[in-house]
Amino acid sequence: MKHRLKQAIESMASPASQPVCAYIYDLASLQRHVAAMRSVMPENTQLYYAAKANPDRKILATLAPWVEGFEAASGGELDWLHETHPEMSLIFGGPGKLESELASALDKNVEYFHVESLTELHRLAQLSAERDQQVPILLRMNIPLEGITLTKLAMGGKPSPFGLDPQDLDSALALIRRNPGLLFQGFHFHMMSHQLCADTHLELIQLYFATVQGWCEEYGLNLPILNVGGGMGIDYSEQGNHFEWEKFCRGLAVLMAQVNLGDTRVRFECGRFITAACGYYVMEVLDIKHNHGECFAIGHGGTHHFRTPAAQSHDHPFFVLEGRKRGKAISQEPVTLVGQLCTPKDVLAARQPVNDLAIGDYLVFPLAGAYAWNISHQNFLMHAPPKVCYLN
Ligand SMILES: *Cc1c(COP(=O)(O)O)cnc(C)c1O
Repeated sequence: MKHRLKQAIESMASPASQPVCAYIYDLASLQRHVAAMRSVMPENTQLYYAAKANPDRKILATLAPWVEGFEAASGGELDWLHETHPEMSLIFGGPGKLESELASALDKNVEYFHVESLTELHRLAQLSAERDQQVPILLRMNIPLEGITLTKLAMGGKPSPFGLDPQDLDSALALIRRNPGLLFQGFHFHMMSHQLCADTHLELIQLYFATVQGWCEEYGLNLPILNVGGGMGIDYSEQGNHFEWEKFCRGLAVLMAQVNLGDTRVRFECGRFITAACGYYVMEVLDIKHNHGECFAIGHGGTHHFRTPAAQSHDHPFFVLEGRKRGKAISQEPVTLVGQLCTPKDVLAARQPVNDLAIGDYLVFPLAGAYAWNISHQNFLMHAPPKVCYLN
């Protein structure tokens, strides 16, 4: 892998050109990864890709044959996904959808609307009546999670702007009964991200199953779909103990055999876990300096391209590829890796041991394929964007 990365970097670094600053996406490994994910999924389950993790055109094209559809979390994403993949099944979630976006989603025949509130349900009922069009919906629910450990990024199990309070389920179902244009198709849950523990995630899914079965009995419901969200995590520490998808799928198969779900299909909409590992952010070292006893390496780029370490408050893992050495070098010394921004927050990894590092070397940050370039404050300081390069 390092060899292929080095080749790609060197092809961008012809002698006359600027220092390198780029994202590299390994599409071949992305395809292998999603194929491996699919190969262990139990029967009656589906995989959607949550495009907000990385909506890059070639990433979407690589994933399209391997997933049942894409999840859009905004009107903008929905437009983009429809434009690039009109053939794909699209689902539309996220709080605060505009009426114009709901109408445009109806024009695009989205597969399901994930309804976030009673107000949204009212808006959809009205649109459905005005247009005389059926609106297939899943109700997004935020349920209490007694005894289940929350991850560091929880959207549910506590007060949040996401999903309906179970107290509102009664009103929601009554509204649906009054509006035959609203086609109730199931429930949707997405309670936490950054889940690294397969067992905890199975407990969570078990709770979804039990809760939904209770509602089905109480209200006499029939669910074609149970969307259990995403949230499978990536371990950004050196240990790299990522979510154990295969172990999780084995447990899920057992769970699904125990719980009688009837014809209900269980759907995932994963983002980070699908694309994080295919991406690399590369900065060429522009300067190395000592300041008040500490060493800093300044790379071509920074958190305005790669906000992940700042957003997660972590030291991002990295490795050094030898470049065209052009000046000051250090060895066996802790170094803080920073970018070109005029803010002390522009740190990608602090006080990291390195063997050898010189101006002109390449700092390569792996696990940069999800929530990286597209969550970054790219316009701050008006630096040029990174190049984007694909390995096939
Ligand atoms: C962001 C999001 C996802 C994907 O989350 P990951 O942690 O990237 O898997 C899935 N569903 C919803 C509703 C989301 O908002």
